Amino acid sequence: MLQKKYTPPPLAEIHEDEYSTVCSRFSTNIIRWYNENKRELPWRGATDPYTIWVSEIILQQTRVNQGYDYFLRFIERFPDVRTLAEAHEDEVMKYWQGLGYYSRARNLHAAAKSMNGAFPDTYEGIIALKGVGEYTAAAICSIAYDMPYPVVDGNVFRVVSRYMGIETPIDSGRGKKEITGWANRLIDRKCPALYNQAIMDFGALLCTPKSPGCAECPLAAGCTALANGTVSKLPVKKNKTKITNRYFNYIYVHAGEYTYIRKRAEDDIWKNLFELPLIETSRAVTEEELTALPEFRNLIAGNESPVIKLSLRQVKHVLSHRVVYADFYEVTLPEETRSFAAYKRIKKNEMNQYAISRLVQIFLEKK
Ligand code: SF4
Repeated sequence: MLQKKYTPPPLAEIHEDEYSTVCSRFSTNIIRWYNENKRELPWRGATDPYTIWVSEIILQQTRVNQGYDYFLRFIERFPDVRTLAEAHEDEVMKYWQGLGYYSRARNLHAAAKSMNGAFPDTYEGIIALKGVGEYTAAAICSIAYDMPYPVVDGNVFRVVSRYMGIETPIDSGRGKKEITGWANRLIDRKCPALYNQAIMDFGALLCTPKSPGCAECPLAAGCTALANGTVSKLPVKKNKTKITNRYFNYIYVHAGEYTYIRKRAEDDIWKNLFELPLIETSRAVTEEELTALPEFRNLIAGNESPVIKLSLRQVKHVLSHRVVYADFYEVTLPEETRSFAAYKRIKKNEMNQYAISRLVQIFLEKK
């Protein structure tokens, strides 16, 4: 027999008493679950907005395990707004090296400089900070100041869309509005800090994208997706992210004890990180094709027969919207070469003083 699909009544049709019961059952169960299952994290228990801000920015595009040590090192070196504001951006980038999404570090630094030593204490003041969006502002306001702003991130989208059985695509304006509307109703206004941390951990640990723990879930009795057998289909997304391929040809110069680097200044991935001389091509090219390019001839101008060695080929580096395929060449030139004039000349053993991308770091470790 076909099971009748359960559709929750629209908000307007839920009686106020029933609606409060649904919301309070949801938050009570989530908070109880959290008290027994929460993750031990270095920023847990912090109520200082600076620490919460740094942890939330690190976690924006980084898994907790990966961000853990970065957070500890960052907070040790930059323990407060003033220390961060007074640091040089190159040093901040160095502390971020390997974490990816480097605009986060640039924005943290710029925002710290804009604060005049005091962290803002209103939602409006916090959301005006560079690099802070609605989610981060809600996390800081609730955890630091116990203000009832619900966090709405990927975890919350998933939990709420499954629990309420919302099939509107979450990457549509209507879907965002619907989930945000529910998030505003579901938040426990008496303890927003606890509730927000609870729903984030619940989504990260139990109501996971694949294989959620429905059998042990304290919300199972009221979960619409579980009742309808649609857990694996929710949340719905209409647009798949388009991935583009890029082809980088890096050149590591040996000029005696010297080599060449430059800071990436363009509005592109890895902005303000240092890198080796680079020629980007529209497809993978052979050594003969690369060395015949005018860009390559310009770089080595004045050295007609450099010694070239292909050191690493087709290193695949996956970013969120791009896949970079990189070839690394080692080029040996006389120590007093006048090539690479547009680049910064440094001693090879000083390379570790500069913030570089993980991709270049992989080459330096392997070569
Ligand atoms: S029952 Fe399953 S899908 Fe529903 S909230 Fe719990 S873990 Fe998520």
